[in-house]
Amino acid sequence: MVFKMLSQKALQITPSPTLAIDSKAKQMKAEGKDVIGFGAGEPDFDTPVHIREAAISAINDGFTRYTPASGIPELKKAICNKFFKDNGLSYEPQQIVVSNGAKHSLDNVFAALLNEGDEVIVPSPYWVSYPELIKLNDGIPLVVKTKKENGFKLGKAELEKAISPRTKALIINSPSNPTGQVYTRSELEEIASLALKHNFYLVSDEVYEKIIYDGKEHFSIASLGEEIKDLTIIVNAVSKTYAMTGWRIGYTASNQKIASAMADIQSHATSNPNSIAQKAATAAISGPQDCIEEMRQSFEKRKDYMYQFINNLPLVSCIEPHGAFYAFVDIKETFSRNFRGIKIENGNNFAELLLEHYTVALVPGDGFGAPDYIRLSYATSMENMVTGLERLKSFLSELI
Ligand SMILES: *Cc1c(COP(=O)(O)O)cnc(C)c1O
Repeated sequence: MVFKMLSQKALQITPSPTLAIDSKAKQMKAEGKDVIGFGAGEPDFDTPVHIREAAISAINDGFTRYTPASGIPELKKAICNKFFKDNGLSYEPQQIVVSNGAKHSLDNVFAALLNEGDEVIVPSPYWVSYPELIKLNDGIPLVVKTKKENGFKLGKAELEKAISPRTKALIINSPSNPTGQVYTRSELEEIASLALKHNFYLVSDEVYEKIIYDGKEHFSIASLGEEIKDLTIIVNAVSKTYAMTGWRIGYTASNQKIASAMADIQSHATSNPNSIAQKAATAAISGPQDCIEEMRQSFEKRKDYMYQFINNLPLVSCIEPHGAFYAFVDIKETFSRNFRGIKIENGNNFAELLLEHYTVALVPGDGFGAPDYIRLSYATSMENMVTGLERLKSFLSELI
């Protein structure tokens, strides 16, 4: 029997490359191989104790039924307080939609905004899921390449060139995964002025807001004024901030129309995010915040080490990350060199050779729209990092 074809959406989707390499590394580890993983897109810390305890209490208190689809009032209120305190932004609880992680929030955003043929400007290097999520929601990702010299940040001229009558939205991700770069207030002002002039939405992915270094400050583009706030959908999550990736709680703040649309979409697609995780997220956001600073300091030490180590290596270089937990490394100079008789042609076979021969896992830049790069996560212990980087050094020294 010949089955009917799957949907075009299904046929066009590519699996998340970051998860793919991670699962291969995990499989090698399970086979007893001593793999050093630089692939992880998540903090290596355990969720802080007071947050875990809130979840245990929720279970024991029987908080195990459906909740309102877009989140429980106490969590929405805690999120509103967070926006006011951290970002100087006033939202009402009904402007908040709590979802199953920031990834789900982004899916809701595009479902609420996009019609077939609508364009979303995506600066590259970009986080792997943006183009796929836009396509899944009938939009067209319009990828705009940014320059390393400009810190991989989208400039006014580049943006202006990409804008068309079909432009529905622009994605901003600061601090950025994968580049670690942070937009300044004045850079965001330039972008905001174009958004107002041409009337398109801003999707601001701020999941790394708290993981920021070198005295840099996170600034939310929504805080540039009431008009720009109305055009902005902020996406955030407890995932990276509180080492809660597995709990799956993300959220948005937006104008009321968009929030209601997203809440309605979610009410049919998934209903509420996990009730217990919502209680845990409430404890995370409204509880003591010193756990964040402890993790941040630890990340910063590792960042300093990795950044310096990489820039002392031959053939590769990276610009200093100021946020998130990744080094984005230019490996172009290794292309057309040979490793034990095999020619290195791109980031993918660089990563494969390194994993196979030196059991070091990292993510090739292809999935981020930057084939000349690799991404190394430093969300791993200092000890692992030292071993893994020494292996990378040996690998590079073999290239002729
Ligand atoms: C991890 C990540 C997300 C998704 O976060 P979840 O809450 O785990 O879904 C979204 N955006 C960026 C840039 C990320 O790195």
